[in-house]
Amino acid sequence: MLKIFAVVSGSLWLLGNLVGWLTRPTPPSPMKQNPVVVSLSPRHFDNRLRREQRQLMTIQERCTRRGLVALGLVSHVEPPAAISVRRGAFWEPIQDLWRPGQAQAFYVPGRDTILVVEGAESSIRHELVHAWEDERSPRMKTTATGSLTLDERMAWRAAIEATAIILAGERSLLAKPSASLDANAWLLAYSIAPAWAYERAGSDAARLTALRPISAASVLFGQSPVLPALPTPAPNECVDRIGPLGILTLALVADPKNEASAWKLARSWRGDALRVSNNSVRWTISMSSSRDSTALERLVVRAAKSREQRAQVIVTGRTTGL
Ligand SMILES: [Zn+2]
Repeated sequence: MLKIFAVVSGSLWLLGNLVGWLTRPTPPSPMKQNPVVVSLSPRHFDNRLRREQRQLMTIQERCTRRGLVALGLVSHVEPPAAISVRRGAFWEPIQDLWRPGQAQAFYVPGRDTILVVEGAESSIRHELVHAWEDERSPRMKTTATGSLTLDERMAWRAAIEATAIILAGERSLLAKPSASLDANAWLLAYSIAPAWAYERAGSDAARLTALRPISAASVLFGQSPVLPALPTPAPNECVDRIGPLGILTLALVADPKNEASAWKLARSWRGDALRVSNNSVRWTISMSSSRDSTALERLVVRAAKSREQRAQVIVTGRTTGL
């Protein structure tokens, strides 16, 4: 199934590039201000990137990540500086230029600064698109404020990365999902979102920056789910929505080889609520059918055995009761 999807999205992307090249769309308007580019050794780059990421993390995000660690969906509260992904069937040698195990460049939102690893200056073009977007559109700032749910934030970040990939003339990567939410958010952004964004906005800069998917389900499955409101957090508690990428990750933690079942369950997601307090983590998930709820419940038990899980997971077949 994923192979078929990869072939379809791969050919759509190739076709998109060809059409884009033939029709030569109007390039984005020039920037008012040139960003500062800071070139660093790989070690200094990694340290600086970690520091910037720490500073960008809101209180809400930190609280949510504590819940994700307890659920075994990510390994650390601090986000990783670089992601290792599983290569898809259509991974090409040229994609090694991206070297996903080592981040190459980073745009610091709101500060007009690009950090780049010495020798990886070709990555600057992609970061310049981020800088350009940050100057013209509030999308990047809103993503950083903590007003979005985690599900929405991962979807918006994917739209932001897709915009940079398309406008910088890069190709999307065909990676595979894995048992880490951080890696799957990366997969959504660099592997899946470019074809999704191109289908909706072509290489029109204004239309690309206007994309604001309400959930990762929109990017993954073209769904526009009507989501139940999140419960109001109690004092000393935070509430967030993880979204279908959380289901995909949990299913792969429990059963790493059964990718088809993981996709099927992720597609059946109809909303969730993660509640994190000082002494408890509770994740309530709604699925579209009681059959999928039962299948997910079974995987929850298996996931708890394969990873140390210090959280309660409740699966419901209805779309209410979060
Ligand atoms: Zn980027």
